[in-house]
Amino acid sequence: MTEGKLKAEWPSRKVVGDVLTPDDSALQAVRRRHEIRVLASLVAHGHRTRRELEEDTKLSRTTLSAIVGELRDRGVIIDTDQTVAASGRHGRPTKVLTLNPEAGAAVGIELGRRRISISVMGFDGSPMSTELQEVAASLGLDAKVGRAVDMVRQLIQDGRIKPETIIGTGIGIASRHANPLSLADGAEHQLDPQGATLDALRAILPGPLLWDNNIRLAAMAYGKDSDDLLYVVLSAGVSAASVSHGTLLRGGNGIAGELGHVSVDFAGPQCWCGRHGCLESYINEANVLAEAAHRGQAFPSIAALAEAAADGNGIAANIIDWAGELLARAVVGATVVLDPSRIVIAGELSQFGEPLLAPLRRALAEQHLDLGARVVTIGVAPFAPTAGSDGAAHLALSRWAMEQGH
Ligand SMILES: [Zn+2]
Repeated sequence: MTEGKLKAEWPSRKVVGDVLTPDDSALQAVRRRHEIRVLASLVAHGHRTRRELEEDTKLSRTTLSAIVGELRDRGVIIDTDQTVAASGRHGRPTKVLTLNPEAGAAVGIELGRRRISISVMGFDGSPMSTELQEVAASLGLDAKVGRAVDMVRQLIQDGRIKPETIIGTGIGIASRHANPLSLADGAEHQLDPQGATLDALRAILPGPLLWDNNIRLAAMAYGKDSDDLLYVVLSAGVSAASVSHGTLLRGGNGIAGELGHVSVDFAGPQCWCGRHGCLESYINEANVLAEAAHRGQAFPSIAALAEAAADGNGIAANIIDWAGELLARAVVGATVVLDPSRIVIAGELSQFGEPLLAPLRRALAEQHLDLGARVVTIGVAPFAPTAGSDGAAHLALSRWAMEQGH
């Protein structure tokens, strides 16, 4: 798409561009940093007088006045009269600044294998808007980026994304892992995922744009309450992510969490990764259905298989037990290393529910490490099609909050 066409289709870009486009001049970048300091103070305290803001942000009165004026003009913050009685002798009304509750938000986008979802999340992590579109798994990553751009544009047109209030964007991408070094270097320097550029999204969404593996970001959505969480997704493949006290474990090379390529049988078939008997070769959706057919009954879907098992179908029940045993072999190993307090199984196969988890519970109960009590809750994730984009929005929010600490 040409730049001219983009502008023609999106007249509001001019307005946004004046303040917050990513190709800001250096001056505007400085202004944006000042803005963020003001916003961070308001996020932290709820409301602030101008004097308090001056102290919090260390900005000069003139600079602060300009920033506040502009934020107020854009509807990001609002002035309210509040009687401050504590220090004033007469308890006279003082102007207090607060965030417009609808103003500050992070955008999360999941470019999943078979769906694109977008979550808009308020400063406080509250969900504001979600949008979902199924896509063909065969669609290339660049094409998925293009679809996401179209969806974002529509959300902007509908007023569900207000670009002037966006503090950052997170993107979760299936089968890609962000280089942890590029993350540490800061938003501007993060390398694009292999096989695609995110520039089209950078062009329409202001603020820093970060991306990482979609499963990891979904784990962040579940692990936001500072759990030591092991999150395992069983769908077309097997992936996992670990969150420890709100921090995602990325690993030294940025590729931590590939539980699907832990071998559960060294004599098993060769995996595409080169090793033998990888968990993923057994309990991916397609192979689970193939295994059932091989054992004498074909099921049209994982949901149908789960339903049949619940209705007492012996073949279906045996398949789930078989899958659970294999899952347990890999997850017990991960549990010994990571000591999670919570294990969450998500993805298509999580529809198998408790029967899938039973072998894991048994295996963990049978293990006596003699290192103290091990308390771990195990459960399946409720189906949450926007978990990836919710987590992506969390990534943007937590990154933003982290920057405020300096
Ligand atoms: Zn493998």
